Amino acid sequence: MTMNSNSNNINYNYDEQAKIMLDRFITQLDSQSGKADPDDASADLKYTRSLQRERLNKKGASISLDYTHNLDKMFKGIAWKMDVDTRYVTRIPFHNVDARVGYSVHGKLKKEIHEKENIYAFALWLKGQKNSEIDADANYVCPHCGAPTVVRKLAEGCEFCGTRFLLNDLYPKITNYYTVGTFSYARHVLPYVILGGILGPSITYLTNMDLFAQAFQSADVLGIIQCIFYLAVAAAVGLAGGYILLAVATVGYVLLKSLISLPLILRYRRVRKHLPGFMRSFEPNFSIEHLLGKILYLTSMMVYSDNYDELSVYDGEPMKNTFDDIIDLRYGSLFDVKKYYVENGLVYLDVVVHMDDIHCKGSRIFRKKDKFKLLLCKSTSAEIDYGFTIHAVSCRSCGASFDASRIRRCPHCSSPYEHYKHDWVVRRFEKV
Ligand SMILES: [Zn+2]
Ligand SMILES: [Zn+2]
Repeated sequence: MTMNSNSNNINYNYDEQAKIMLDRFITQLDSQSGKADPDDASADLKYTRSLQRERLNKKGASISLDYTHNLDKMFKGIAWKMDVDTRYVTRIPFHNVDARVGYSVHGKLKKEIHEKENIYAFALWLKGQKNSEIDADANYVCPHCGAPTVVRKLAEGCEFCGTRFLLNDLYPKITNYYTVGTFSYARHVLPYVILGGILGPSITYLTNMDLFAQAFQSADVLGIIQCIFYLAVAAAVGLAGGYILLAVATVGYVLLKSLISLPLILRYRRVRKHLPGFMRSFEPNFSIEHLLGKILYLTSMMVYSDNYDELSVYDGEPMKNTFDDIIDLRYGSLFDVKKYYVENGLVYLDVVVHMDDIHCKGSRIFRKKDKFKLLLCKSTSAEIDYGFTIHAVSCRSCGASFDASRIRRCPHCSSPYEHYKHDWVVRRFEKV
């Protein structure tokens, strides 16, 4: 079938489009956009955001976001791309931004974070979107009424609300995103330089008080000029010295930080090196970035969902959510896969993810390092579906599509929906 066909897009540059899309998404995330959710967010991303909003509302808390794009081209790019899938094209663009995040309780600003971070986003196109041969049977969610359906039906008019959509209304979408803090050098320059600029002349004056007093008392013009000259030189030396001090402090800081986290970084490098080889026998396009996106998505489902009983991505022992102080999950820039193995036709990953979360207790807001341990599993024969949406899954028995975000059984034939046959599920989740 033909939908919104456009044949002049043979040279469609997905990399460029992904970067443009990410910039637009960042602007949409900014609180000043005035919208609860970015227009480019997929239904699933809007869903996790709505869970977080529920949490915030319960606490009377709110978050404000103010992003300034880092215009340096060095700080943007494409972290991963995937073109070989038959249904979708995906890109993970990233961009460095200057982020100001404000946390308030009952309208009172309690905490502000100001840091540079890389934003990684998952941009998804339907393959062939730019020409006439597309797969119109991909599952989708009506953007108007939220009903689970397929792309074809939305183009013909949603069977529930009747709204018709162009393909360009449905794709591309941002299906997930996360941020990684980056060390900001410039932010620390000013205090050091000012300190140097003040210390230089002060030391010069204090160590030459006699000379200065003499020159001023005897109104010796040359002497005074000489004194001012000394002070100016001292100020310049001080400014430069402050800058050098910063450089030394920075190197020391980075060194110290890396020494502390060295074992973890080494392990992470080992994971980066060996895990893809292991995973590619089940998932030919496996990428660490994509897995990290999944880990953070599942962590947010586990932290923000108040009820695990109906959560289709949780497939473990019944338990209660004990993480309800967390109002904002922030990735702590490190994760580790302790073990990976296959057992009874299932792939298991034993993951530890380091977070730097914002907690809210009463009217108190504080930042805390949290470590979560997740045991993930999925069927070795699960075929990864990049366009997967939990709001429109297909029943394996009767073929109907339904929303599995809060139910685990097909509403039409009541056969169980087993998410591990499609994608990662959480078997165990705990704080360590
Ligand atoms: Zn509809
Ligand atoms: Zn069914």
